Amino acid sequence: MSLNVGVIGTGMIGQDHIRRLTRVLSGVTVVAVNDMDQARAQAAAPAGAKVHPTPDALVADPDVQAVVICSWGPAHEEQLLACIAAGKPVFCEKPMVTSEAAALRIIEAEVAFGRRLVQVGFMRRFDADYRRLKAVIDTGTLGAPLMYYSKHRNASVPEGLYTSDMPLNDTLVHDADISRWLLSDEVTGVEVRVPRRSSRGKDLRDPVLVLLHMASGALVDVEISVNIGYGYDIRGEVSCEAGVAALPNRPAAVVTDAHGIRQAIPEDWRERFIEAYDQEFREWIVAAGQGTATGPSAWDGYAATLVADAALRAVDSGRLEAVGMIAKPALYS
Ligand code: NAP
Repeated sequence: MSLNVGVIGTGMIGQDHIRRLTRVLSGVTVVAVNDMDQARAQAAAPAGAKVHPTPDALVADPDVQAVVICSWGPAHEEQLLACIAAGKPVFCEKPMVTSEAAALRIIEAEVAFGRRLVQVGFMRRFDADYRRLKAVIDTGTLGAPLMYYSKHRNASVPEGLYTSDMPLNDTLVHDADISRWLLSDEVTGVEVRVPRRSSRGKDLRDPVLVLLHMASGALVDVEISVNIGYGYDIRGEVSCEAGVAALPNRPAAVVTDAHGIRQAIPEDWRERFIEAYDQEFREWIVAAGQGTATGPSAWDGYAATLVADAALRAVDSGRLEAVGMIAKPALYS
């Protein structure tokens, strides 16, 4: 039995997910698509898939059993609430939503429905390197984690697509989520320091240095550069009481020539996390087929949203900004 999926948003990542859902993974069929740009939706639609005029029409389509949301962040709330109201499992790209109030409305709706339906696109949790790193920390052989550094570097971002705070309100959510997950901890406060602005950064506040204060007392430093030029470079190292554990360098051919010895760096997130996205959807398809969700939850989306909100306050205040979460509903324990 194949899971019939509708995809909302057929831009860069929407097209990549349609490719993996139609050409890479089994047990799933893309039966419908929607985009603000009808021509783009038409071009991205796999053979035989319907092109719906609105996200609501796609969610209401009885042939659509589960939904994948790849529209831009501010549109996610309305589309998620429509999926929950229809009782359909939904995979939503990050950021889940763009404000604390919106995140709480998603949680309230899902808790009222009484079953998990939402999975948020934090694909790093499905990456084999991050999973091995977490496994080492979880054994406890290195003792308690004390510090974690997370380096997040994009070659460039499309000009004009984002506001100046994109590194804080769009990029940081990945580092916030992976820090919570790796350290099995919660963020309680956020500080931001802004160094000299990169002349490659156009209008963006880039780079930024973020310090996450964790409930255990551990500290996480996140270094984000979204216009680093040379490639997509993700690094991480956890410093524990009795040793350190780090992400490995990605395997790549070692090239030796007249310019020296070097290894290629992934061009962008599609290349670096290609297997992670595949695995993320493999696990989502199984859960969605059973009418639920098991991966990163609306609670995780809420936690990451709070960190982004606190980072935006911290960049203005120059101070440590507190992150206060509501009591965790039983649905997410
Ligand atoms: P994109 O190329 O701009 O694509 C977004 C698409 O959604 C566009 O075609 C846009 O149409 C459409 N859209 C916007 N609002 C819509 C709405 N209300 N209803 C239907 N369609 C709508 O952006 P992208 O890079 O694919 O990013 C999409 C989402 O994925 C973002 O939330 C982004 O943060 C996330 N993302 C995640 C990762 C990851 O690593 N997990 C990587 C990249 C992106 P118009 O262009 O006409 O507005």
